[in-house]
Amino acid sequence: MHRERIYRGIPASQGISIGKAYLYTRRQININTLTLKEGEEGAEIEAINNSIDISLKELNKIYAISIDKIGEKNSKIFEAQIEILKDKIFLEGVIRRIRNEQKSAGYVFNDEIEKLGAIFIKSKNDYMRERYSDLMDVRNRVLRNMKREKLVSKVEENSIIFAHELTPADTILFSRRKVRGYATDTGGVTSHAAIISRALRVPAVVGMKTISKFVDTGDNVIIDGSEGIVIVNPSEETLGVYEEKIDRIKRHESLLYEIVNKPCRTEDGKNVEITANIEFVEETEFLKNCGIGLYRTEHLYMDKGDFPSCAEQIQEYTQISAATYPKPVTIRTFDLGGDKILQDTHKEMNPYLGWRGIRVSLDRIHIFKDQLKALLISSVKKNVKIMLPMISSVDEVRKARTILNEVKAELDKDEITYDKKIPLGIMLEVPSAFILAEELAEEADFFSIGTNDLIQYILAVDRGNELISGMFQQFHPAVIRALKKIVAGGHSKGIKVSLCGEMASVPLAAPVLVGLEIDELSVLPSVFSEVKQTIRALKLTDAKALAGRLLKMSTESEVRQEVERFYEMKIKPKTL
Ligand code: PEP
Ligand code: MG
Repeated sequence: MHRERIYRGIPASQGISIGKAYLYTRRQININTLTLKEGEEGAEIEAINNSIDISLKELNKIYAISIDKIGEKNSKIFEAQIEILKDKIFLEGVIRRIRNEQKSAGYVFNDEIEKLGAIFIKSKNDYMRERYSDLMDVRNRVLRNMKREKLVSKVEENSIIFAHELTPADTILFSRRKVRGYATDTGGVTSHAAIISRALRVPAVVGMKTISKFVDTGDNVIIDGSEGIVIVNPSEETLGVYEEKIDRIKRHESLLYEIVNKPCRTEDGKNVEITANIEFVEETEFLKNCGIGLYRTEHLYMDKGDFPSCAEQIQEYTQISAATYPKPVTIRTFDLGGDKILQDTHKEMNPYLGWRGIRVSLDRIHIFKDQLKALLISSVKKNVKIMLPMISSVDEVRKARTILNEVKAELDKDEITYDKKIPLGIMLEVPSAFILAEELAEEADFFSIGTNDLIQYILAVDRGNELISGMFQQFHPAVIRALKKIVAGGHSKGIKVSLCGEMASVPLAAPVLVGLEIDELSVLPSVFSEVKQTIRALKLTDAKALAGRLLKMSTESEVRQEVERFYEMKIKPKTL
């Protein structure tokens, strides 16, 4: 009997699957490094030309399958690979070198691709290193086709694929065999294979370092793409636990299906807006008919390793606006810094207290203007709202609004249409902002509370530090009172208050937040139905009374126990 083994990596695409492993290995490609004999160059040139023809045909086919499965935007990578092989100047250079140096086609082609890739491989930046992998993928395809070797992908349906590395093409081709998951030694969350897995809604764990050495074809495995875990030879007990989890996910999905079109209203008639937190456009597919309360844009920077152009942003924001229409989408301007490292040259001692969010935007006005311009141009359907992160003073909002007005004037001059009344809201996540909530409500069109940061700053507890994770307390009395003050500040000037931190995604906390009269909860897609179900089981009068009791308490344990008691008594009997 084999022992159960657990391996960890980076969670790259949500979901859990149980199945048999398929270990995908690629054969080593041998390159002839010897000098050619007189007259052999002709055959080499013909071989490389043929190979490029075959490779182009293959890539065109993969591109078409990919468009069909995951849409044009997610398939751009194949277009880029096709472009490389169509680059006449590059290929003429290869052929010239075969003739002049009397070296094999494989040798010269490999050398030229390596030269192109040299700039990328040294980069510390994920996006650049990804470009290197794309180039190597093209190289391997051409070299393999020169030897007329076929890629063996005889894989049983419903397998979970393990590999040292998966190219985007591998991921797409395997998906035709109803693959149930991907786990790789290499890769990050923004790698193409990860993006494709999310678009296919198949669980994936990447960056597992050596998993391909510890798994064999036919092994029983569990992959948990939400936690970033792979379990090889799971025990009966573990299987039971995961079967239960899969059941829960299925129940959630069918509940979601049932509940998605029902109103999010308390039993006694109070409407509470419920929206989703989204990071990737692909996720909107899953949540049809649902507004987006927080669309983070940092991934555009992280994917590219640099700020995206205005045109690239227009493409992204227009797509998200169309996917969500007629429901609204709140798009947050770049919140870089903190844990989303902006530059590796200047290390900050306290990045969370440093050059972050709106501070970066107001220091790099041309970048901020590009983003605002893209947001305005994408707002023609009138369902886009702009949100500013990390606001800590009234001045910051005023400056941002002045810049927004300047961009609007530029668009007016060029006769470009946009939503003239586009709302400009702010994140409430810094203590100074909640203290000045009333004044800030004069400046902003809406508030959204970012409890992930608000709690870390109020309690002075680093949100990512495991040593003190127990001190990161959403039911701390100081947090409850801060929420109360923010809502009062917003409502005193008639603006809506939403909450988009993770606290909104905790069903237990929903009665507290509704009782505090927060107008909108923006939650993780995976708990959307549970939170909505909780609100539908709730009475506003009970929730308000609960909030009133909590506001008088002075310790976290008192608050938490009261919240748990309320949930057990008032919610559980109706939602089970
Ligand atoms: C928050 O701080 O609660 C929030 C939603 O923003 P982020 O997690 O992106 O900092
Ligand atoms: Mg935040």
